[in-house]
Amino acid sequence: MSTTKADSETALPRECPVIDGRREIQHIAARASDVGGIPVARALPSKSRRLIGAWCFLDHIGPTVFDTDAHGLRVGAHPHIGLQTFTWLIEGRILHRDSLGFEQEIRPGQVNLMTAGRGISHTEDSVAGATRLHGAQLWIALPYQDRDTDPRFDHYTELPRFALGDIEATLLTGEFGGHTAPTLQFCPLVGMELTWGTAMRQEIEVRPEFEYGILPLAGALTVSSERLAENELAYLGISNDSVELASDGAGRALLIGGIPFDGAVTIWWNFVAHDRADIERATDDWNSHSERFGHIDAPAGGRLDAPSIPWRR
Ligand code: MN
Repeated sequence: MSTTKADSETALPRECPVIDGRREIQHIAARASDVGGIPVARALPSKSRRLIGAWCFLDHIGPTVFDTDAHGLRVGAHPHIGLQTFTWLIEGRILHRDSLGFEQEIRPGQVNLMTAGRGISHTEDSVAGATRLHGAQLWIALPYQDRDTDPRFDHYTELPRFALGDIEATLLTGEFGGHTAPTLQFCPLVGMELTWGTAMRQEIEVRPEFEYGILPLAGALTVSSERLAENELAYLGISNDSVELASDGAGRALLIGGIPFDGAVTIWWNFVAHDRADIERATDDWNSHSERFGHIDAPAGGRLDAPSIPWRR
């Protein structure tokens, strides 16, 4: 998964205005894109919102059905720096392989977390026989002091699950309502999947120091009296004590949030950095086959070269 535009965080308002006693939310339509042959809806980064907490990239993958194994996901060897990749599957299976030697099949209901730090490379491929794919891949920007941390790989199969009224919640990272996910964090964040099988109306308590976003993955969702379509991200900003969710029927959504990220980052290709020179060095290191990013044997999708950096042309 990668982004080809250089995105720098700018000073966007963090607090959504209150009008007639009701918090106005920012609507961000995810844009259609393609990753390794699979249709995705990219909600972050967007022109109007780069980060939500440290969450700096959000692809809703599928849902899609392949007619044969040959048409599945195939992402060749590529590097990352300065971020964690966070993969959550709803349907299907993906095989992760990385330059540390980890080989892990990702299944629905599990969080796959790769901390890139100063450099790692990996491949992401469909598993033979798994002809459906639905999920999300997010990136988390590492704080300045952790940008060069050792690369590592973590996989979480047991996550807190609990009911919020008629909503079934799975806590993917962080804390919520007295529950704590085991997922490694470098700064305070939350990620939670919400599913519901019937019409519902539910108020959930949130932390005023966090900013939040919510993305419907299936079905429409009403957030604080505003209707969101599938793949329409709502930015709720900071200073909320609670959020009211409602729906006319079954659905699924992803809630993300965190302390507003401290510092400006540039997101380009598969790199996140606090200084553009770090992206230039990483690009040169990868394209010159430096040992920094290790090696992966016989990647099914080949080895992906970094494109030329737009600001260096
Ligand atoms: Mn990747």
